[in-house]
Amino acid sequence: MAITKLVQRSSRDWFREAERTYTEKHQGCPWCGGSHRVFCQRRETTVIFYCQGCDFQVSHESESERFVMHPGVDERSDIVPETMFGAPKTMSS
Ligand SMILES: [Zn+2]
Repeated sequence: MAITKLVQRSSRDWFREAERTYTEKHQGCPWCGGSHRVFCQRRETTVIFYCQGCDFQVSHESESERFVMHPGVDERSDIVPETMFGAPKTMSS
């Protein structure tokens, strides 16, 4: 049942959490919980957090206030996040 809270988070919540763990856990990842593995990229109006440990990624485009989140891979279990992210969006460049 522990996954419930993960699934219920919105992309916006994930972004806020990524901001927090990036600072508080020294480039920590809100998905896999590891430290020293998250990159923060800023491109014009977009801020992206990316975890090289689990492929979790979340971005915020400040002009349109759009949040996009890609679930990470949880190597510790077979849990697959439910389909609120069913049609993964890729970043258009
Ligand atoms: Zn991670």
